[in-house]
Amino acid sequence: MKKKIELEGYEVDCIFKKNKQSKGIKITLKNSHNFLVTYPWFVSRRKAESFFIENKNWVLKNLENLKSNKKHNLLGWGNRKDYLRNKELARILVKERVMELNQFYNFAVNKIAIRDQKTRWGSCSSKNNLNFNYRILFLPDDLVDYLVVHELCHLAEMNHSKNFWELVAQQIPDYRFKSKKLKNL
Ligand SMILES: [Zn+2]
Repeated sequence: MKKKIELEGYEVDCIFKKNKQSKGIKITLKNSHNFLVTYPWFVSRRKAESFFIENKNWVLKNLENLKSNKKHNLLGWGNRKDYLRNKELARILVKERVMELNQFYNFAVNKIAIRDQKTRWGSCSSKNNLNFNYRILFLPDDLVDYLVVHELCHLAEMNHSKNFWELVAQQIPDYRFKSKKLKNL
């Protein structure tokens, strides 16, 4: 059963689930506003609910942690409006960088698409199409170039093999550092 519970101004969704195997009441954080509370057969839902509220400090602390993590994750940032607003600028930037950085490799590039993806910065298809996340617009120049070179090299190597990274290194010798920097954003 799902229930909205207010904790000091925060409204959280709580799913209460009876579990035959469980020996005590357990709270699990599912995502930013969802908690799962499992409780054993001998405990009433009302009791599980008051347990959840009694542990509000733990709950609120976890919520805070999750929110501050989100704030620093550029991939999770932005809505449809932000995408539409920035898409064309991102396309201009990417096209320009692809043209310049591909002078070195001379790979055949088909289409370049700008997408709104929450989990990846770019991808490359077997039809030689390159896709980039519009949020590339908000990255520092060195990371823009790293991403463009990364996707360009997938035109030659559709994997992350040794050969692939050797190709990347020809233009971005410190690609390891760049890749780490991007992951930490
Ligand atoms: Zn890759």
